[in-house]
This record gives sequence, structure tokens and C-alpha cells, in this order.
Amino acid sequence: MMIPKEVKSVIKKLKDKKFEAYIVGGCVRDFLRGIEPKDWDITTSAKPEEIRKVFPKNFYENKFLTVTVQTGSKDPKLKDIEITTYRKEARYTDKRHPDEVKYAQILGEDLARRDFTINAIALEIQNNHLPRVIKSNHPREVIRDPFEGQKDLKNKLIRAVGRPEDRFQEDALRMLRAVRLATTLDFKIEPKTAEAIQKNAGLMRAISQERIRDELIKIIMSNRAAQGIELLRVTGLLKYIMPELEQGYGVGQNKHHIYECYQHALLSLEYAAKKGFNEQVRWAALLHDIGKPRAKRGEGQDATFYNHEVIGAKMTGQILDRLRFPKKDAEKIIKLVRYHLFYYNVDEVTDSSVRRLVRQVGLENMEELLQVRMADRIGSGVPKAEPYKLRHLKYVIDKVSQDPISVKMLKVTGNDVMRQLDIPPGPRIGHILDILLGNVLFDPKKNKNATLEQEIATLGKLSGQELMEMSQKAKQEREKVEIKQDQMTKQKYWVT
Ligand code: ATP
Ligand code: MG
Repeated sequence: MMIPKEVKSVIKKLKDKKFEAYIVGGCVRDFLRGIEPKDWDITTSAKPEEIRKVFPKNFYENKFLTVTVQTGSKDPKLKDIEITTYRKEARYTDKRHPDEVKYAQILGEDLARRDFTINAIALEIQNNHLPRVIKSNHPREVIRDPFEGQKDLKNKLIRAVGRPEDRFQEDALRMLRAVRLATTLDFKIEPKTAEAIQKNAGLMRAISQERIRDELIKIIMSNRAAQGIELLRVTGLLKYIMPELEQGYGVGQNKHHIYECYQHALLSLEYAAKKGFNEQVRWAALLHDIGKPRAKRGEGQDATFYNHEVIGAKMTGQILDRLRFPKKDAEKIIKLVRYHLFYYNVDEVTDSSVRRLVRQVGLENMEELLQVRMADRIGSGVPKAEPYKLRHLKYVIDKVSQDPISVKMLKVTGNDVMRQLDIPPGPRIGHILDILLGNVLFDPKKNKNATLEQEIATLGKLSGQELMEMSQKAKQEREKVEIKQDQMTKQKYWVT
């Protein structure tokens, strides 16, 4: 793997002006693991106004000493490169924001304020002279790694830079970041770091919900989402992030279920992640039974959970609102939770009840609802996700959502016919429309005003008897088309 030329060019421009500049942070970590970074960050001795002078035309400034340079690249990963001035963090009186952000003088200070050793590695690119320390396989790159992050990378460990307790007291979000990184990278949290999280978990209360949400989403979207949630529980963070989920821990279900509520939620999420389902489906898989602990009546084999989907939908709304989820996403997840129990048995459920379900959930959400249902089933320990039954339901959903074949499809109405032929309402109108529809079904190109008007003129000259016979024939043709269409819909879902 190579360092992109856009990144090298930004660094060179800074260095040409005698500033120091290094690639740093998550991108170095990913690069050293042989994984393509999703963005590239640069740290420099130049102050923001000096960075602006180096890139006078293509920069915009964000807060916190960071300047974004636009490289003109088409690649979204390289279009914007963030350059941050060396900084150190001052006191955190509220455990969430530094009271002030201060410039640091040297790279070492900037690396020391970063969260984990694997995120505190800097990469220098030296073009002109031979590097002083060569530890890299990349001849022109020198690795600055004062906290032995490479060793932790090799051993797959998340280890705080400095004393973990101090670092978590400065910024409690780092505890959640530790779990997030352990989840996405499939690393372990080093024991002293893990112990400090357990001790300080309560500090999560001070962290803004937006920051928590962004890290949580990264956990949910990871392939190892379920392990990530479990790690949140084991480290003691879950209580402060989603206590509702923790409340399902150790809550047994009944004779229909082998798993406890919490286990079931995780297994459902695991399936959703394995299948690569989208974010909303993953949340719904995790939260679909969140109402069960509160809905539970009785104990043991005969316990019941009436209304848990209604209670659960309400709780889901509260959780997502608390985490400041966008309204649109939240609404979808709430619906998926609310309707996850929909009843469906081939031949037992009518088209009209499916039509009602589609109306309640929204046609655009039906695919996701079925995915939540599959996750629920697999999460219950049922070996199959019910392929035939679900395919059949998909077929019925498609069927009831198709526009029915009717004279409404025509470009002209009964009124148009009456006006054109100057005749009063009566059976002739219906017959003419039926005949027109028959023609249009045969040849959709005929559904044009001019063509239809010509046909109306011709039909207007026929007797009532002739019109009736023609319309009977047209109706038979239409039934054939309906049957054909239904067969095609069935074929699409492999049902008979
Ligand atoms: P990702 O690959 O998911 O972006 P990342 O490690 O790059 O992971 P970012 O949030 O992009 O995460 O942060 C970039 C870098 O900034 C981190 O690698 C780390 O060095 C530093 N950093 C981020 N958040 C914190 C924090 N709360 N405390 C200390 N350093 C942090
Ligand atoms: Mg990053």
C-alpha cells in the first residue's frame, strides 16, 4: 500500500515552508495494519493562520485548530485532508470538554494527548535526506511511536496513552472509544485500561449524547456488533448508555424461548450484522424486544409479555430521542419494533390484513420489517429464517401494492367519453371504457388521448348490443392479463 500523492503533496508544501508535518491518528493505525484508511489526517507545527497561508486558495477552517485543505481529488477519501496544529489538552473541569485547547510545541506532546497507543503513532515522510531512525518497511517513511503503539498493534491491544484513569477522567468518551475500537478492530482492551473503565464507567453520565451516539453507531455497524454490545455490558458502560437493554439481562422468557431477553437481543443483532443489514434494521433487531422486561407477567414457563411491542416501540422512541437520532431514522426503527410481531401464515391471513400491515408500516419499510423478523427468528435459536413463508408474504405484499387493473389506468375518463359523444350517463359509457382498457392492455401504446379519442368516435357509432358483446370479451381478456400478472408476481418470489 502507498501513501497517496495528495497526502504527500500537502506534507511537502508545509515542509517547504519549514514547518513540521506528520500523518497521524487512525489513518496511520489502519495503514500499518495494511487496511486502507478512510481518511487522512495531518498534524503540524504550523498554526492555523500559517496553514492558511500555505494553502491560500483551498482551505476552509473548522473549529479546534483544524484546517481542512481541499486537494481537488475525486476520491472522497482524499478530497478533504484535515490538518491540525500540534495541541495539548489543558484541564477538564467538567470531564467532557477541555477548558481550553492549547498549542503544543513538539510532536511528542501532541501524541501524548491522544487516546490510545495505536492512535498515537505519527508517520513522517522524508524526501530530501536520509531518515535518522528507520524502523519501517517503507524506506522513505519514518515512524514516530513514543508509546509503543506498534507493539500493541501487533498484540491487538487497546491501551491508554499514559495513566488510563487520568485519561478517562479528562474525557470519559475515551472509555466508549476503547470499546468501539476493540469491537471494530477485533482487539482486546489491555487489563489496566479495562480496569480503569470499570472503575470510571459512571463518568459516562457527563458525556453528550451526540458523541455517545456516533460511537455507538460505529459499534452497531461493525461486523462484530453483538460482541461490542456485550463488551459494553462487561465493562460496565452499558448501564449508562442504554440501561433499558441491560435490564433484559438475566430476564428469562417462557416455554417458547430458549434464550433470555438480553441474549436474544444480541443474537438477533448478530444475525443482522452477519447479513449486512442496514443500520435501522440492526437497531430494530437489537431493540425489538426491549419492552419485554416491563411487559412480563408471571414467572417461568408460563410467563407472558402482552403488549411488549407497544411498550417496546415507546421505549425505543425514548432511547433514540435521548441519543438525538434524526427523526426520520428514529421513526423507521420505532415502526420496525412496533410491528415486528406481525402474524403471517400462508392461506390463513387475508390480502386485506396484509394491506393493513403495509399501510401501517409503509411499503418502503416492508423489506426491512421482514429482515427484522428473520433476525428475531434466528435470534430465538430457530435454525431457519422461514424462507417459504416470508417469500409468500413478500408476494402478497407486492400483490396488494400493485395498482389494480382498472379503467382508472386509462388516459380518458367516463366524463371525457360523455362529453366527446355528447351522450348522458348510462351503460354505454362503462362498456366503452372496458373496451378501451382491453385494447390498452393488449397494446399500452394506445393509452394516448388522441388514439383513445379516435377509438371513442368509432365505438360511439355502434349499437348498445354490439358494445355489450365487445365489452364482455374485453373483460375476459382482462381477467387473463390479471392471472398472468399474478403468475409473474408469484414467479418473482418463487411461490406457487
Ligand atoms: P476511525 O478510523 O473510526 O476514524 P479514529 O481513531 O481515526 O478512528 P477519529 O475520531 O477519527 O478516530 O479520531 C482521530 C484521532 O484523534 C484518533 O486516532 C486519536 O488519535 C485522536 N482522538 C480522537 N478522539 C479522541 C479523544 N476523545 N481523546 C484523545 N484523542 C482522540
Ligand atoms: Mg478517523
